[in-house]
Amino acid sequence: MESKPSVILLYHRFGSPLNRSTVSGQYVTAGLLRAQLRSMFAHGYRPATLTQLVTDPAYAHGYFTVTIDDGYTSVGEIAWPILRELQVPTTLFVVVDGIGGTNSWDQREGDIVVPMLSESELRRLAAEGLAMGAHTLTHPRLTQLDDAALQREVAESGARLAQLLGTPVTTFSYPYGNWDTRVRQAVIDAGYTLATATKLKDAAPWPERPASDPFSALRVNMRWNTIPFALHNKIARAYAKEGR
Ligand SMILES: [Zn+2]
Repeated sequence: MESKPSVILLYHRFGSPLNRSTVSGQYVTAGLLRAQLRSMFAHGYRPATLTQLVTDPAYAHGYFTVTIDDGYTSVGEIAWPILRELQVPTTLFVVVDGIGGTNSWDQREGDIVVPMLSESELRRLAAEGLAMGAHTLTHPRLTQLDDAALQREVAESGARLAQLLGTPVTTFSYPYGNWDTRVRQAVIDAGYTLATATKLKDAAPWPERPASDPFSALRVNMRWNTIPFALHNKIARAYAKEGR
């Protein structure tokens, strides 16, 4: 077990897949979430926080954690009760301009309207132990922004979320897993201690990076059909090249 690299799972939406959505594959039902988490425990992975797993070498092997991007209401309604019951440390990456609104960035690309958690719901979930990180203000492709807009999306999102929660925000997630060396440097300059990414199927190859880079921590993307068998194949493929 000690030889297995630790694993960061990535979720977005919960509930039955809605075929009208352009990202219907992102929906994970309560039953599937529970099966995925149980199978992580059954394979010997122990739960850890994202910060432990990414920044402390003692947690580099044999641990897992959950991250959820964007901040939809289905996190509070469906996922969090299960994650809390199974005591899996979880980090929610919030699109700060979307708080209390809807997924406007997806709607611009043709998606259905999906409600986002409100300020009071975020505060309640944080008080119950859900960790929070920044996922920009407006969910742009950060590599396409000029320096001023990049700095604003990265730094202001964390600052505003910290103000809302009354606690420091030290973690960041790149929208669409889209980053390059300039974006990565902006995250470091803004004072974050780690950033999470993901390798999407049709995205450009990642830039050169240090092994197990805390500012491009690799995650495994969970989808509507990621049954436990598929999950462990996915994990093996994703971390095979991580060099941990
Ligand atoms: Zn996102």
